[in-house]
Amino acid sequence: MKGEIVCVKCSLEEGKAVRMRVKRTGVTFRTEEYIGYFRADLFECPECGAQVLANVGSEIVDEDFVTDFEFLPVGVWI
Ligand SMILES: [Zn+2]
Repeated sequence: MKGEIVCVKCSLEEGKAVRMRVKRTGVTFRTEEYIGYFRADLFECPECGAQVLANVGSEIVDEDFVTDFEFLPVGVWI
């Protein structure tokens, strides 16, 4: 169980722990609070399809790096 990710919504509906599965490891993402980017693992719920990023690593500073996901406010251009 340790380190696993459980979907609350689906677990309540199914009456058992519904674990999210690794969809892709080593995806990269950027958020507006940091200059650099982060690596993480992308998990997906097999029931509802909800996706989460977990096992987030340390910030990697490379402003020119093209990331998989950009979590930036609408209207911000970098
Ligand atoms: Zn779910």
